[in-house]
Amino acid sequence: MRAEILSIGSELTCGSRLDTNSQWLSRELEALGWTVVRHTTLADELDAITSEIAAAPQRSDLLLITGGLGPTLDDLTRDALAQAFSSPLERDPVALQQIRDLFSARGRSMPASNLRQADRPRESESLFNSCGTAPGILMRIPRADRDQPCLIAAMPGVPAEMRVMFQEQVLPQLPASSSTLVRGVLRSFGFGESEAEQRLGDLTARGRNPEVGITASEAVISLWISARAADAAAAQQMFEQTAGQIRDRLGAAVYGDGDTQLHEVLLQQLQDRALRISVMEGNTTGGQIGSWFSEDQRCCSVVLQARLQTDSDWNAADMTKATEHFAGWQEQVIRTCNQYFSEQPLGGILFSSGCFDQQQESGVIVRRGQIAVATPDLIRFADVSMSGNLRIFRQRAARTAINLLRLHYSAPEWEHPGTVTVPR
Ligand code: AMP
Ligand code: MG
Repeated sequence: MRAEILSIGSELTCGSRLDTNSQWLSRELEALGWTVVRHTTLADELDAITSEIAAAPQRSDLLLITGGLGPTLDDLTRDALAQAFSSPLERDPVALQQIRDLFSARGRSMPASNLRQADRPRESESLFNSCGTAPGILMRIPRADRDQPCLIAAMPGVPAEMRVMFQEQVLPQLPASSSTLVRGVLRSFGFGESEAEQRLGDLTARGRNPEVGITASEAVISLWISARAADAAAAQQMFEQTAGQIRDRLGAAVYGDGDTQLHEVLLQQLQDRALRISVMEGNTTGGQIGSWFSEDQRCCSVVLQARLQTDSDWNAADMTKATEHFAGWQEQVIRTCNQYFSEQPLGGILFSSGCFDQQQESGVIVRRGQIAVATPDLIRFADVSMSGNLRIFRQRAARTAINLLRLHYSAPEWEHPGTVTVPR
């Protein structure tokens, strides 16, 4: 069953407030087996709101509206509902009494403007608001081409009031969904978004059940699986089957599920093997690896030291300077490995070089940097240069290093195109 959400308020469209209601309602509906197909945000303008509301029953079985139920003249949801379905506004005596009671409970007299809040279209029901003055409105709009009417519920914009009204008043009115949804996410690192999609092939086809969606954030590619079935057990089984297919097709690039972080996986691998590592970072990762590690309790038993070296000249206009830096840094990596691995038992060392901004003729700035991952028997060097945001550059570089060591343990035969391997 298809649902839409309409958020109303000029404070949302002008950017002073973020629409959080749609996200919250979508999660609630999806968990109940609904498919949310549309989010709309509109300013406080009567005609636009009216036409959006009037069009919804042809598209969807449920329309949830938030906002525009206050007492002021810019609160237009009631008027729009009345106009959209030619159902004139009438004052609801029960709702009016509830509003009056609320004011007298607060020891205040009710301003005349609040009378409007008891108005609702003739063919509607009032939804009790246990947390504020604005009652909600429920309408069932008959549809010529379908047996079921379209259900429309208008709720207050204030998130705390809206949530309670949804749970107490709207949820019991929703027709039972014929399906249950099981939703979850697998996290992967290494393939780009398009390469991951290519490998997943038919699994990402639209309209497939379970549906697989791909998102990319901070160089992590997430695979969102939504499985729908008549009951929870069947949906779970379909979910597991698709998750297995994704793991088969992406192999060891999948490092976890849910909120698992790549560095947590590595710290666990090291702890399980009773291994310790060192971290030597230049400006390419700028302390990002050490910072992630230090947020995890396993850091104490696994990370021997994490150092930040900041001696490279960041804005080297002259690229020979950068080339010289990388050559010198690579020699330093090899020397450090010779020294550290001979001094104490170490599982590995993660390195990053200094970084340099290089302006291309096109105007694009490429940030150049390298990482290296050493284990007792080899060192892998990788170029992590990219253009764009510094934070993303660092996170991607840090994850590239962490991932190389993770794969060393979980998939030793994994190929690493673009890396240079030096035996030790
Ligand atoms: P209203 O019901 O339109 O009077 O909205 C009351 C207040 O709730 C607004 O001033 C906003 O601060 C907040 N609000 C309205 N809509 C939303 C929304 N979609 N997401 C988050 N906050 C909202
Ligand atoms: Mg408003």
